Amino acid sequence: MISCEEFLAEFGDYLENRISPEVRQELELHVSQCRACHVLYDSSRKTVKLVTESSSFELPESVSEPIIDRVMARLRTGRS
Ligand SMILES: [Zn+2]
Repeated sequence: MISCEEFLAEFGDYLENRISPEVRQELELHVSQCRACHVLYDSSRKTVKLVTESSSFELPESVSEPIIDRVMARLRTGRS
């Protein structure tokens, strides 16, 4: 299984659907087995979904980047 660090490294791309199916599978496996990452993964996806639904289709870079940054900052500092 990949480590939390590897998970975090790919997670931004995962949220933006920019990863290969193989990497996606690795991340989903990690999330299913790591409680800390699962909690953050879950809330991150909800945040992204909210933002995606409130704008029309694709997130422009200027909108998506700060969200990803915020999520990543939380991932790095929010672990207990
Ligand atoms: Zn983890």
